[in-house]
Amino acid sequence: MQRHWFLFFLLAILNLTTGAQAEPAHDYGAWPLIDARADYQRAMTDRVAYLVEQGETLSVDDVQSLISANPAVLARPETSVLANGINSGAIWLVANVSNPTADPILRRVSVGTGWLERVDFFLITEGQQPQHFVGGDRIALGHRSIAKRLPSADFLLPPGKARLLLRVETADPMVVPLYFSSITENHSREQAEAIFFSFVYGVMFALSAYNLMLFAGLRKWRYLFYSLYTGTFVVVTASYNGIGMALLWPDSVGWQQWAPPLFMLCFVSSGLAFATSFLKTRRYRPRLHKTIQAIGVAYFALFGVFFALDKQGMALQLAFLVVPVFTVLMLYMGVSSWMAGNQSTRYFMLGTLASAIGASVTALTVDGVIRYSRLGYHALDIGMVVDAILLMLALADLTRKNKVARVTAERTAQIDLLTGLNNRRGFLPVAESLWSLSTRKGGNVCVAMIDIDHFKSINDQYGHAAGDRILKKIADELDNSRRKGDLLARWGGEEFTLLLPETDEAEARTVAERFRHNIEQLVVNDHGRMIRCTISVGVASRHAQHVTLEHAISKADEELYQAKVQGRNQISTGRTSDAA
Ligand code: GH3
Ligand code: MG
Ligand code: MG
Repeated sequence: MQRHWFLFFLLAILNLTTGAQAEPAHDYGAWPLIDARADYQRAMTDRVAYLVEQGETLSVDDVQSLISANPAVLARPETSVLANGINSGAIWLVANVSNPTADPILRRVSVGTGWLERVDFFLITEGQQPQHFVGGDRIALGHRSIAKRLPSADFLLPPGKARLLLRVETADPMVVPLYFSSITENHSREQAEAIFFSFVYGVMFALSAYNLMLFAGLRKWRYLFYSLYTGTFVVVTASYNGIGMALLWPDSVGWQQWAPPLFMLCFVSSGLAFATSFLKTRRYRPRLHKTIQAIGVAYFALFGVFFALDKQGMALQLAFLVVPVFTVLMLYMGVSSWMAGNQSTRYFMLGTLASAIGASVTALTVDGVIRYSRLGYHALDIGMVVDAILLMLALADLTRKNKVARVTAERTAQIDLLTGLNNRRGFLPVAESLWSLSTRKGGNVCVAMIDIDHFKSINDQYGHAAGDRILKKIADELDNSRRKGDLLARWGGEEFTLLLPETDEAEARTVAERFRHNIEQLVVNDHGRMIRCTISVGVASRHAQHVTLEHAISKADEELYQAKVQGRNQISTGRTSDAA
């Protein structure tokens, strides 16, 4: 009984293996077939198997016999779309199509990646010559089977089953989203993508042009770098996804291989140049600035070496290495400048974060780490649009802050920092116009010079810092004693000027007397020490001898001297000068 069981088992195995050998050409594998009638909206997911070419280039027949000899040579992509990262060998994609109708069906097979160097499409039907199409950016546009940006093939699928074989070869990231649909469906997908690219490029191009204009007008380098950053982004992606070749250089196959890595370096450098000028790294982080410059120069030098040696694959690897380094550097610069208290880094950080996330999602999608989706594939474009808009806001924010700072600086230049009163610069323009207004109207106007008595001895007695505090208190008191329309300023040292519009000499004397009185009454409590001061005032009015403000001021100065000479703590008005 046991022996019978063993024999039965052996026969069963034999039967299975001979069955497998008997029908090798019809082994359409364990994965689902493509239905020739269907319009697949998304990239093929579970209907594709692949085989990595090891060493020698394989022919269609080689691949067919390899599969028949051992179906296990085929692997199934782990993610939904075959993505194998940068610098992988050539890859064969295998899919089986079934046309259950009685008529042939025309279908377009295409790959959604514009940077693949060469893609050969084969359709194998029993008893017929394989149908062959070729595409990819190492072939001039006019020499591709279908003169399109994306590698495509139009196959007439006969009734029954057929096998689709694709050979993909590239030094760039191997990502092969395979589409199978009617030609109409293919057109509408292309249209949707064209709309997406028009939007992205439109925004980036507009920002680039606008900032170039700002640079031309304002001569601030950061606008030029921003313009280059957004501009080169358009150029990089357009050269990478084949739009550049499709529209601008259809025959320049050699240039098409070198343009993407070269533009990537330009993009990264202009991004760094923008960041360093925006964050003023040269001033705040001179060593970091030097390091970044050195990295930039080293990259271009290496690129030059690879170009001279015609090592396009290495140039690409370099460019792909530069991008994450760039992202990390940008984030680092943003964080460190933020921590140093630079407020305008807020938008910069958010923008850099958006593009870093976008770039990472795209890189992980292209490397096959995360599930392929068109959103994931285009995450970089979306992240860059967000980045560009936020950086534009950052620039606007910086411009606004600079303006506020300038206005503040202009304002503080007219104001005395210790007392908060106008200084000479703040006083004179206003006083001049009030003076000439009075002159024109023939009205009265007076000017008074006020000087604190024996202030030197206050300093000597209590120290300069206490002197400052007392000076400030006296200034406050003068400011409070002033009438509303009168203009008070610190003329310098412990001297003040007062302009009294619409005031005759007698009224001016009354006002000055009030000043003198108030200061005399003022007791400054400085850390428990009760300090008192007095002032002397010289007054001059506009009349025949001193028509200009300048004359009047020097006359008031003379009067002040008189008041000092006559014993201080008093007012002198030129005609009569009385002791207080
Ligand atoms: P007089 O009554 O003749 O005006 O005597 P005075 O000591 O006030 O005049 P003098 O011109 O000899 O000295 C002015 C002093 O005022 C000397 C200077 O150190 C002091 N002073 C001027 N500006 C400031 C200031 O901003 N802070 C302080 N603490 N002292 C000042
Ligand atoms: Mg004095
Ligand atoms: Mg003085």
